Amino acid sequence: MQVVSFQDCKCEFMENLTLAIVVPCYNEVEVLSQTNERLRALLDGMERDKLVTAGSYILYVDDGSRDGTWTLIDGYCENYDHVRGLKLAGNAGHQNALMAGLETARADADLVVSVDADLQDDISVIPEMIMKYHQGNDIVYGVRRNRKSDSFFKRTTAQCFYRFMSAMGARTVNNHADFRLMSRRAVDALCAYDERNLFLRGLVPKLGYKSDVVYYDRLERKAGVSKYPLGKMMSFAVDGVTSFSVKPLRLIFYLGLVFLIISLAILAYVIASLCKGDGVQGWASLMLSIWFVGGCLLICLSIIAAYIGRIYTEGKHRPRYNIEKYVK
Ligand code: UDP
Ligand code: MG
Repeated sequence: MQVVSFQDCKCEFMENLTLAIVVPCYNEVEVLSQTNERLRALLDGMERDKLVTAGSYILYVDDGSRDGTWTLIDGYCENYDHVRGLKLAGNAGHQNALMAGLETARADADLVVSVDADLQDDISVIPEMIMKYHQGNDIVYGVRRNRKSDSFFKRTTAQCFYRFMSAMGARTVNNHADFRLMSRRAVDALCAYDERNLFLRGLVPKLGYKSDVVYYDRLERKAGVSKYPLGKMMSFAVDGVTSFSVKPLRLIFYLGLVFLIISLAILAYVIASLCKGDGVQGWASLMLSIWFVGGCLLICLSIIAAYIGRIYTEGKHRPRYNIEKYVK
């Protein structure tokens, strides 16, 4: 891996760019003051080193928090020049909150970095991301070197999910979540994707712009608890697969083929038994196959229903989020 210093990237041709750090927040009152201190210190350092302009800022997106998150954000906006707050009307979900931040920031930022509020993503690699932008990349993905800080359950489910996604033919960057840098034109291109079932980590690689990665060690959540309980994580995973692949629908056909072959084998067995003069017995095996085939059919129906449900939400074209206020 190529190691580059912070100073290396300050080449003469480098233009000074305005950076927006977009941070979606949902009930993050426990962690936000630490996050704000660290992000401000990082931004100050980058401004001093002329890596970004003095107009660069942190944009907190409050995703309808019910604790005191917005009060904190509002206070930061009042006390610090480089902090802005976007308050969404209600909880639109992490991906929509992120999108709200990106759509707002592209109005005056040249570069946008998205990062979670809990600082699990190591923000000290942001200067390296900017440097990779100057090397000609429109997108720079933050990729976790390992998942040691995740629980066994989270690590295993995440690995299964990434494997399943790639088996289904959906392209994602392995071990990358939503910590990434994007140029304004990449954000503009992303905003042109009008879908409601957002799965940004699958959508961004689709933009096709030149990209690179920076590696970092995923840290523990600094405070507070995960806002992604199992149910939300599962529906996010289903969103990911259904947004990028129709392979599950095709698999239903192959499953049907397998069942057809099994039924032909059973038919051959029945005919052979009758020819021999034996009666065909087997209440238990009959019940077993009825329940087995019934279960498989319901699963197949639910796969089809997952796609239909998404066609339904896409068809309504409802707005992804509503903005209550924007404080600069
Ligand atoms: N988040 C959000 N809206 C939601 C859920 C989460 O804006 O409905 C934010 C949350 O505040 C955090 C980020 O999304 O900044 C990622 O959530 P979290 O760290 O809880 O997820 P995990 O790291 O456990 O997957
Ligand atoms: Mg987290």
